[in-house]
Amino acid sequence: MNASPAVTEVDPTLRARLAARIRDVPDFPSPGVLFKDITPLLADALAFRDCVDALAAPWRAVKLDTVCAIEARGFIFGAALARALDVGFVPLRKAGKLPAAARGVDFQLEYGKARLEVHADALAAGARVLLVDDVLATGGTLAAAGELMRGLGAEVVGAAVLIELDFLKGRARWPAGTPLQALLHY
Ligand code: AMP
Repeated sequence: MNASPAVTEVDPTLRARLAARIRDVPDFPSPGVLFKDITPLLADALAFRDCVDALAAPWRAVKLDTVCAIEARGFIFGAALARALDVGFVPLRKAGKLPAAARGVDFQLEYGKARLEVHADALAAGARVLLVDDVLATGGTLAAAGELMRGLGAEVVGAAVLIELDFLKGRARWPAGTPLQALLHY
């Protein structure tokens, strides 16, 4: 088992096939936002399978304990990745949703504030965590999730997202030494 993921190039044909299943929805949820709708990809059995396989590939030889994913669309890929990588799954939820004692982090979104919470006992000290979400935009959500995980004593081994919106420079908010893998770039 390795400490870091393998650098794997995503096959351009696969990339094009997945990109063809992402629907752009202008002005959703607010004017000026081009929403990347993943539901056509999820509905396509082969595209969804190949997408999960490609997201998992760099991490197959990495020692991981848990996949942690961000509500809500991150759960779809996160749970599938946890299964593919044979590790457990921990949900990072929006404020007030978790039933047992929780820890949280407040952060700034492009417009307004948000909060992510996790069960206080969800991770063992030193647990090696892979963070998962669907889209990296301004990077605030993923950075806050990393902070929350580290606050619980976990080691964030890396992050995997389906889509990175390069022009928003969200990667700059992610720790430079921690691998962040994206399948599709816009
Ligand atoms: P950010 O904190 O700006 O990186 O935003 C990331 C979160 O917002 C992710 O959980 C995404 O699901 C969602 N998100 C942000 N921008 C978009 C977009 N253009 N299309 C789809 N989801 C988005």
